[in-house]
Amino acid sequence: MHIPFDNSYARLPVQMYTAQMPTPVKDPALIVTNPDLATLLGIDPADLTTPEAAQVFAGNQTPAGASPLAQVYAGHQFGNWNPQLGDGRAVLLGEVVGTDGIRRDIQLKGSGPTPYSRSGDGRAWLGPVLREYLVSEAMHAMGVPTTRALAAVATGEDVYREEILPGAVITRVAQSHIRVGTFQYFAARGDMTALHALTDHVIARHYPDANGPAKLLDAVIARYAALIAKWMGLGFIHGVMNTDNVSVAGETIDYGPCAFIDGFNPNAVFSAIDQFGRYAYANQPGIGAWNMAQLATSLIPLMPDRDTAIEDFTAAVHRFPEIFAQAWRGVFAAKLGISQPTEADEALITELLDLMAKDGADFTNTFAALSRDDARDQFIDRDSFDAWARRWRARQDDPSLMARANPQIIPRNHQVEAVIQAGRSGDFAPFHALLGAVTTPLAPLTDGTEHFARAPTLDEQVTRTFCGT
Ligand code: AMP
Ligand code: MG
Repeated sequence: MHIPFDNSYARLPVQMYTAQMPTPVKDPALIVTNPDLATLLGIDPADLTTPEAAQVFAGNQTPAGASPLAQVYAGHQFGNWNPQLGDGRAVLLGEVVGTDGIRRDIQLKGSGPTPYSRSGDGRAWLGPVLREYLVSEAMHAMGVPTTRALAAVATGEDVYREEILPGAVITRVAQSHIRVGTFQYFAARGDMTALHALTDHVIARHYPDANGPAKLLDAVIARYAALIAKWMGLGFIHGVMNTDNVSVAGETIDYGPCAFIDGFNPNAVFSAIDQFGRYAYANQPGIGAWNMAQLATSLIPLMPDRDTAIEDFTAAVHRFPEIFAQAWRGVFAAKLGISQPTEADEALITELLDLMAKDGADFTNTFAALSRDDARDQFIDRDSFDAWARRWRARQDDPSLMARANPQIIPRNHQVEAVIQAGRSGDFAPFHALLGAVTTPLAPLTDGTEHFARAPTLDEQVTRTFCGT
């Protein structure tokens, strides 16, 4: 398999990573590969289905030009500082510059232990691999910046969690895997060499218009605020917005116990480890600002005058809520067919969300039904909905926006779980069917896809999701 590697991270100061080969597995078998993404990366899609591909995507065979390494980082986990994290079950094979001119990482996740594994085994089981594959590709199809999935393989090995589970490896593609926690790691140690090198690398790679740390901070804030606004518009809950899971490139990264809301509840929490609801749906923008404050703190040592930097960076972080609010308005206005949103539209949007929350209306289906003009059925209190809808129709000016902004099909928890259960018994047909549906989320429903758009019954609802680590 020819992968046109061009590795830049491996040229950065040695304290920023550890050279690390993936650990081979017993009996690799391809589950799925992504020919469109391969083409974008300059990989011949015909190479994806060869026996060699299973070996490469399992980490058994290292393609020419790779310089495998594990990246070090730190992070705040649920608000608590952890000075030492890193790729504990992932290895960066290298980078390629795609046909679109964008540089991207190709990383194996679940590929064996690294110096940063602590007590972990460096492995992943099939469940989180299929979940990440489905959700990341669905997010991409819905226009949300995200890491992507190039391949998933079964390892033929057992993974030991609370039970014995089948192992798997996902090949993840990202504009980079550099996190807020990567900056924090070097700032906390006072390693100015690495902090400067990292900052220059991130600016050159992701924000070539930024002329220094202050502009970099502004630019990351803008992208991250826009990203969270997109999550909110899809009823998406990331679940683990720790600073080590925040990409400075502004992509959704580290799909763990993430979930899409079915019946709307702004306080929804799915992650089994999120005991106090820190990362609940409605908390995401506030946490976003908090995470940007951690990035700001890490950039201060780079500035010539500390007091001025603190003042300027504090102001930059304090702009997050307004930047987010504007992005959020834009997202929801498009969902309602309003082309020129103003601050006054916030009330219209909020009132709809309040009605949805009161009645537990299905998030995705309510917006999809608004596009078709039959949303009334989603509500119990139809008089209140009618009153709202009258005001909405008076304000709506471009219904064509709605078809693009309101997916019919998202990877619903209960369907993802069902696909994982089938996969455990070796049946990947349901996975492929769901993948096909969630990667064409705007397509009109057919007899074959209609069931994917159905909200779960009470019995079917999945209310808890797990990291799977
Ligand atoms: P997460 O919040 O899932 O991104 O994981 C937090 C940290 O734990 C990361 O540094 C991971 O690399 C590490 N980790 C998670 N699962 C494992 C595992 N099975 N083996 C080794 N390290 C792991
Ligand atoms: Mg992580």
